[in-house]
Amino acid sequence: CGIVGYVGAGRAAEIIMAGLKRLEYRGYDSAGVAVVTDRTIASAKKAGKLGNLGQQLAESPLPFDGIGIGHTRWATHGVPNDSNAHPHLSFDGRVAVVHNGIIENFAVLRAELTAAGIALASDTDTEVVAHLLAQQLAGGAGLADAMRTVCNRLDGAFTLVAVERDDPELVVGARRNSPLVVGVGKGENYLASDVAAFIDHTRDAIELGQDQVVEIRADSVTVTGFDGAPAQVHPYHVDWDLSA
Ligand code: GLU
Repeated sequence: CGIVGYVGAGRAAEIIMAGLKRLEYRGYDSAGVAVVTDRTIASAKKAGKLGNLGQQLAESPLPFDGIGIGHTRWATHGVPNDSNAHPHLSFDGRVAVVHNGIIENFAVLRAELTAAGIALASDTDTEVVAHLLAQQLAGGAGLADAMRTVCNRLDGAFTLVAVERDDPELVVGARRNSPLVVGVGKGENYLASDVAAFIDHTRDAIELGQDQVVEIRADSVTVTGFDGAPAQVHPYHVDWDLSA
């Protein structure tokens, strides 16, 4: 029910956990975080409150540096347990993805992946996206191209945010019928389902339009349509007060 992505020089896992905390008011049943550093995706996910995940991270911390994504889940497909919590990793470990919403045609996509010999590790509608993205990357696409191709195959409502192991400076997001906002910082950028997630760091925001993909790096934000055409962005300043 909440999503945070971060690219910058800060401690990704801590920034993401703080962002998820800011989204707690929306309700959730599980939480998780993934960090990309040294060409590896390290992740942790837990059913229950953020405190459960926090405890796990205290016992076995994720790397301090790198980029990352985080999620609080409100289960729609698959019970709230550790393996159904997001992020979901692809069969080859190359992609991690978080998702808010529902992929209506996930059963068809699951069947296609199973037929291709890919074993599904969860009962979620979301996991198919990780594998489909990895298939695109294996075919030579970059993560943003992969996201556009995959989104064109999805029905339903989704905010998706993904990272890939071999591009440790990039976070890619996409949206249809579900919100996604960019937080524009200095030498760092954020993605979130809600400005509350990054309000402690920046008040400069860009709201993604329907059927758009965004690529954030530390110093750039690029938005296109699902068709790949460059999109106009409309930056705005968040001037409302959010008292902790
Ligand atoms: N449909 C997905 C799931 O059940 C995402 C739910 C959400 O929006 O948190 O895992």
